[in-house]
Amino acid sequence: MRCDQTLVETCPDAAAMRPAELKAFAARFSARLRDLTGVSSGHVALHEPEFRGEEWTLVKECLDTGWVSSVGTFVDRFEAEIAAVTGAAHGVAVVNGTAALHLALRVVGVTPGDEVLAPALTFVATANAIAHAGATPHFVDCERVALGVDSIALRAHLYRIADRVSGTTVNSETGRRIGALVVMHAFGHPADMDALVAVATEFELPLIEDAAEALGSRYQGQPVGALGRIGAFSFNGNKIATTGGGGALVTDDPDLARRAKHLATTAKKPHAWIFEHDEIAYNYRMPNLNAALGCAQLGQLDGFLKRKRRLARRYLEGFDGLDGVVAFAEPVYARSNYWLNAVLLEPDYAAARDVLLDHANADELMCRPAWMPMHRLAIYAQCPHAPLPVTEDISARLINIPSSAKLADGISNERDDD
Ligand SMILES: *Cc1c(COP(=O)(O)O)cnc(C)c1O
Repeated sequence: MRCDQTLVETCPDAAAMRPAELKAFAARFSARLRDLTGVSSGHVALHEPEFRGEEWTLVKECLDTGWVSSVGTFVDRFEAEIAAVTGAAHGVAVVNGTAALHLALRVVGVTPGDEVLAPALTFVATANAIAHAGATPHFVDCERVALGVDSIALRAHLYRIADRVSGTTVNSETGRRIGALVVMHAFGHPADMDALVAVATEFELPLIEDAAEALGSRYQGQPVGALGRIGAFSFNGNKIATTGGGGALVTDDPDLARRAKHLATTAKKPHAWIFEHDEIAYNYRMPNLNAALGCAQLGQLDGFLKRKRRLARRYLEGFDGLDGVVAFAEPVYARSNYWLNAVLLEPDYAAARDVLLDHANADELMCRPAWMPMHRLAIYAQCPHAPLPVTEDISARLINIPSSAKLADGISNERDDD
């Protein structure tokens, strides 16, 4: 049953639920979740990596040949493959997603003292990368369809605070230049890119996609990552495909790609034996060993995507009918990789969140709340932000549930949509 406005009086108010009712609700949720995972007992991880492809062969090749570090054929191959998967002209492989974001900010021209618009509902790496670039994050709200940056609220906010000063956009309240807009595809669901590109264009802001969670997701048929100026991916162990630790940038702009690679390799001028560096840069290149793992993983991406979508379908159908809980579905304009499945507690059940989390985790079903919003972290509490009502609401009611591809192994492929 759904609790809509007309039914609100008949819904139990979790704040008023007695401890016994809360426990019973949490027990019903755990039992349903356990059933839907298809794992009858024991630990169920939030997101486990899976190595059923060429991982052993390709990693062994690195060891056998001695090419384990930041130069090697797998790095080149991984860059070509990540570009191909995302439909981008160029890929640059780096040590992790945070480093990818940091370089993205640098190459689009963010400089120390700037502000950068970014969602408050994101993993801390988005904001950290902005801070690493010497800039200040300026947090904006998300919408309810994809949990991405809300283009309408963003435009309204910019009309209120932004001044156009000789070709740049300045925050009139702080006097700082706004250097870029970062959007994020939360849990793999593509943000509404057309609308966001329009806002970025109107205010002449370079648009960066934090696509760390969204490898393989499509927005109106197009892969995410290269829909703005430049996009960043993560290949951390918990993401849909992993290099152990790793990241990548994708872009159609050859100058941005060249400059990102240069900054990632200590800005060394190419020469057979002279070590000359033309700016203070970074050691951010992905090692060949990790790239080998990544090549093997990308070889299985289609299978990962199919199985993740099967699991999501089972959750969407399986939670239907459980009072107080709605599984989160992809936007109609998108094909999501469903990196992490999520359920939203109905507003009247929101106060039950922590009891639910305690119960599920005690039952060895690894569940977790959405990230604490960035403006609530002490480290970013002083940063400017737009009104954040949706971020506040969603982060109080969202729970991520086990999402490993292997949980789909028992599900028939006959309803696959690709
Ligand atoms: C995982 C993630 C990152 C950072 O990736 P690392 O490889 O862990 O540095 C950045 N942004 C978001 C939204 C992420 O989920």
